[in-house]
Amino acid sequence: MTTDFEWEKDKLYFLPLGGCGLFGANLTLYGFNGKWLMVDCGMGFPDDTMPSVDLLVPDITFIKQQRDNLIGCVLTHAHEDHIGALEYLWPDLKCPLYATPFTAAMIRSKFAEHSWADQAEIHTIPVGGEIKDLKPFHIRMIGMAHSIPEAQSLVITAGDLPPVLHTGDWKLDATPCVGDETDETSLAALGEAGGILAVVAQCGDLLESTVKRHFGAKDSGSLIPGHGGVLDRLDGFLTVAPVVALLTWGADGSPLTW
Ligand SMILES: [Zn+2]
Repeated sequence: MTTDFEWEKDKLYFLPLGGCGLFGANLTLYGFNGKWLMVDCGMGFPDDTMPSVDLLVPDITFIKQQRDNLIGCVLTHAHEDHIGALEYLWPDLKCPLYATPFTAAMIRSKFAEHSWADQAEIHTIPVGGEIKDLKPFHIRMIGMAHSIPEAQSLVITAGDLPPVLHTGDWKLDATPCVGDETDETSLAALGEAGGILAVVAQCGDLLESTVKRHFGAKDSGSLIPGHGGVLDRLDGFLTVAPVVALLTWGADGSPLTW
């Protein structure tokens, strides 16, 4: 993987180190004007082709070499495939962490087993809250229904570019078994505001034809499949927004830019 690329000014870079095209090991980097923002740091799960392997973690070689430019990591929710690799990888990164109260508590409980636990800077953000101290990025959370409390989508803005909606895991459920229902009002408002640059969705089992059927007619953004099969549920929210065309990523290990 390229680690010494030249930054292009005012370009937004998208670089998944895990989670795209596979289930688990979610770790996404967004780059802007020399700084990297990390979203999630999850473990992956070995299958029967990996005997004696207990768990998988993302390969963080790239961001480890650029650790001085890593401004922080935001965790979307507390499932293992989103926070489970933190306790193994954080000592190599030592970046500030940002999460809702429930997710932050889960991280603290994992870190408590390690000698370095008191070195970690963990910021607690309210559900639906904002993160203003990760410049050049601005991050707003939107609460989503999921199978764990306090799952959040992230509205990530950098410079004068329209925002990226990083969905995390989510579903539409008026009576979720745990946690709150999806904040549809905020999602709809985001769509009505228009100008969404990209939806980075947890829906990697989508086929290209499915993506194009829903969003292919609109062409000023990109959709990055993650996992989960929920893209069709976005359609109702974001009908006004100029998302999305299918974009593949990382085939040559290079970051994408907008
Ligand atoms: Zn989840």
